[in-house]
Amino acid sequence: MPHSVDQKAEALPSAEVEMAEAATDESANQGAAEDVDMTDATETQTSEATKSEAKELGAFEKGQERNGMASDTGGIKVEDLFDMDSDDEEFPSSAMPVKKEASDSPDLLPSSPSDAGPVQHSGSDPELLRTFYQRLFPWRYFFQWLNHSPQPTLDFEHRELSFMLSNDAVMRYQSYRTADLLRKDVLRLMPTRIEIGPVYSTNPRERKLLQNAGSFRPVSKELCFDIDLTDYDDIRTCCDKANICIKCWQFMTMAIKVINAALRDDFGFKHIMWVYSGRRGIHAWISDKSARTLDDSKRKVIAGYLEVIVGGAQSGKRVNLRRPLHPHLTRSIDLLKSHFQDDVLEAQDPWRSPERADKLLQMLPDTELREALKRKWDASPERSSELKWKDIDAVAKTVTSKNFDPKALLDAKQDIVLEYTYPRLDINVSKKLNHLLKSPFVIHPGTGRVCVPVDLRTFEDFDPLSVPTIQQLIHEIDAWKEPEVKSEKGVHDWEKTSLKPYIEYFRTHVNALMRDEKDVKVKRERDGEDNGDLW
Ligand SMILES: [Zn+2]
Repeated sequence: MPHSVDQKAEALPSAEVEMAEAATDESANQGAAEDVDMTDATETQTSEATKSEAKELGAFEKGQERNGMASDTGGIKVEDLFDMDSDDEEFPSSAMPVKKEASDSPDLLPSSPSDAGPVQHSGSDPELLRTFYQRLFPWRYFFQWLNHSPQPTLDFEHRELSFMLSNDAVMRYQSYRTADLLRKDVLRLMPTRIEIGPVYSTNPRERKLLQNAGSFRPVSKELCFDIDLTDYDDIRTCCDKANICIKCWQFMTMAIKVINAALRDDFGFKHIMWVYSGRRGIHAWISDKSARTLDDSKRKVIAGYLEVIVGGAQSGKRVNLRRPLHPHLTRSIDLLKSHFQDDVLEAQDPWRSPERADKLLQMLPDTELREALKRKWDASPERSSELKWKDIDAVAKTVTSKNFDPKALLDAKQDIVLEYTYPRLDINVSKKLNHLLKSPFVIHPGTGRVCVPVDLRTFEDFDPLSVPTIQQLIHEIDAWKEPEVKSEKGVHDWEKTSLKPYIEYFRTHVNALMRDEKDVKVKRERDGEDNGDLW
C-alpha cells in the first residue's frame, strides 16, 4: 500500500561508485583551461536538511512494495527514452525519434528542404539560434555541470547527448570530450533541441565497435522529475492545453516546494536544480553522486514514493490514502494547505459550476451529507468554491444518520486537498537511467523562451511569462552600451542580457556541486592513504 511506514531497512545506495577519470594531459584541457573561480560560489542550500535515516528507509521500503506490484517487462521503448510527450506539441510524439533515429551520422540524415516538415517558429530561426549558441549558451558551466570537475572526465566524455535537427531528424549517442568540441559541433549542426542522456560504460560513439554489445550500458545519470501543467487540466479553470498564466503556474510552485522537501529531508539530496521547460512545465535535475548512481529499481522506488495522484482525469477520486498518513504526506499537506485556500479555492474556483460541484460531491463520504449539500448548492448555483468547501463542515453538523463517520469525512477532505494541490509527476521520466531529458538553456521552439533554471531562493516569485525569449536576448546584446567605467575582466555577452541572473544561478549551483564532488574525492584518497595509520 502506498505510504505505509515500515521499519525495515534498505539504505540509500552508496555514493562510492568509482568513476574512472580521464587522463588530464595537456590536450585534454582545451575545453576547461580557464581556472574555475570558486569565490563566487555562494552556497545556495543554506538549510541542508539532516538526513533522517528512518524516514529514508521507510521511503525505500514503501516504494519497494509498490515496485513489487508493478509489472516491468524490462524492455526499453523509444517513448520511454525521450521526454517526448511533455511540453512540445510541435513535435508529434509518436513520429519523432522512431522514424529517423537510426542513424547518428549526419551524412545519412535527410537534408533536403522539402523534407523539413515542421513549421519554422521564431524560436528556431536559424540565424537567431546561431547567435544564441555562439554568444549566449553557457557552454563552460554546462560542461562542468555534467562533468563535475573543471578538467575533462569520463562523466562528460561518455555522456550521451542527443540532437534534434531543424528537419526533425534525431541524432542519438553524440558525445564530446570538452565543452569546446561540443560547442563547435552544435554550431555545425544547429540542433533545435538538445537532450541529455546517461553516462555510459564506454564512449557512446564507439558502442558499435564493441565485441560484446552488453558491455555498453548506462552507468549514471541525474535523477530527474518532470511536471507538466497539461496534467492539471481537470483542476485548473484559467487555462488549458499549452496555455499557462501566473494563476496556474502556482501548481508548479507547489510542486517545487513539496518535491524539494522530500528530496532534501527524506533522501538527503542537496544539488537539486529546477528548470523551466520553456512553455508549461518544469524539470528537476538532482546531481548528487548518490542520485546519479541510482539504478533503475531504486529510481522506481523514489518515483513511487513521490507519486500520490494516480489514474487519469476520468478515474474519479484519484487520491485514496491509507491512514495514519505517511510523514511525507503530513508534511505535504502542511506545505500545501495555504495554497489550497489561495491558489485553488480562490484563484481557480474549481467547483463553481453545478457539473464541477458534482465532482466534489462524488469525493465525499455519506449519502445524507451529499444530498444535503446538493440541495443547498442547487438552490444557489453560483456559489463559490470557497463557500462550498466551508459548507461541507457546516452541513456535516446537521447530518443525523447514525452511520455518519466524521473521521471518514476528515480523511476525504485531506485527500481532496492533495488531489487539488499535490504535484502530478510524469514518473516515466524518473524511473529509467537511460531516459533522455531536454537540456537546460535550450530554446523552446514554440515560445522562443530559454529553458532557464528556477532560482530556489525565489522560486515562489518565478514568472514563466517573464522568461526572456531568444529574440529579446539578441536585441539586448545589440542595445547594450559599454559603461563609462570599463570592467577589467571584460563583459560576456550573456552579462549584457536578462539571461544574466539565470546563468549566475546556474554557475553557483555548478560550483557547489563541483566543490562537493572534489571533497568526496579528496576524502576518498585520504581514507585510502590513512589506512592503518593511528595519528
Ligand atoms: Zn492559467
